[in-house]
Amino acid sequence: MTEHPPAQPAAPVTPAQPGRRELLARQSPLWPSAASRVVGVIGDPVRHSLSPRLHNAAFDALGLDWVSVAFEVRAGGARAALEGMRTLGIAGLSVTMPHKADAAVAVDELSAVARRLGAVNCVTNNGGRLLGDSTDGQGFLEALLRATGMDPSGLRCVVVGAGGAARAVVLALAQAGAAEVVVVNRTAAKASAAAALAGTVGRVGRGEDAAEADLVVQATPLGMVHTARDATTMPLDPNHLRAGQVVVDLVYEPPTTPLLEAAARRGARTVNGLGMLVHQAALAIEHWTGRRAPVEAMWAAVAPQRAEPAR
Ligand code: NAP
Repeated sequence: MTEHPPAQPAAPVTPAQPGRRELLARQSPLWPSAASRVVGVIGDPVRHSLSPRLHNAAFDALGLDWVSVAFEVRAGGARAALEGMRTLGIAGLSVTMPHKADAAVAVDELSAVARRLGAVNCVTNNGGRLLGDSTDGQGFLEALLRATGMDPSGLRCVVVGAGGAARAVVLALAQAGAAEVVVVNRTAAKASAAAALAGTVGRVGRGEDAAEADLVVQATPLGMVHTARDATTMPLDPNHLRAGQVVVDLVYEPPTTPLLEAAARRGARTVNGLGMLVHQAALAIEHWTGRRAPVEAMWAAVAPQRAEPAR
């Protein structure tokens, strides 16, 4: 693994600094206008989502008259939402829980990764034809590279959890050439299904396997804000963690989870889930606009309040 300096977002923009579109809006209170293109995120809950902020920061930096909003769509409503996307000409949708599997069934075409995962987190409206992709895994790899310089090729990896996020990471690690991808999960059947995504380098394991790993990825909701103060919410015995490892927690709220704190105390390098969120959104921007995503501006839009733990 190549070590780079801790990768924090460069030259963060102060939130108080007006963006191009805020200036535009001040000049013309009628903006957004009839010409503005619309994208968004569907999910439930969704009002807390950082996706519109990330998308809008990208549109600002790219100088595009596009706007992103959040649509609260109840469980079971993904198909209707995507039909509405087609009817209304919404250019792109990010898809979050509980709709990722339903969206994979409702789109017209799936990327190879989305087909393997049976899940879609990004829909692109291509002239009425809906293309579904899963950018979580690639977003994870790009975030890992940015934060640590780590390329998982040839490395031993442990993924804790076997839900949607874990499955995307398992597949991405295997496709990136990991030597081993060990899945540790509460429910054995789901662990086996997730490990199978990694083919010959995948297997089901136990928490103890983390001791031998170069990279440990925490992909359960344990450690999120509402559970952070509960001592029983440690997804893995931190005694298995050590210096020389990278430990990633896909949770980003709070920025430092109990597991990351414990891992850092044991000398491991720690990364939270904010980078994965930013980079999967950057890939969505590229799908929708065909432009290279302004990743630094996107980081700057969310990072000042939620800095990565720098180790
Ligand atoms: P999910 O599909 O519901 O999967 C949850 C996983 O966590 C399952 O494997 C489940 O185990 C396990 N789990 C849940 N509660 C547990 C408990 N009390 N003890 C042990 N294991 C438990 O959720 P997901 O979509 O994969 O999301 C997982 C986490 O990743 C969430 O915190 C989410 O916010 C985060 N995430 C972050 C990003 C990002 O961009 N940073 C993207 C996606 C998700 P069982 O199989 O036994 O039920």
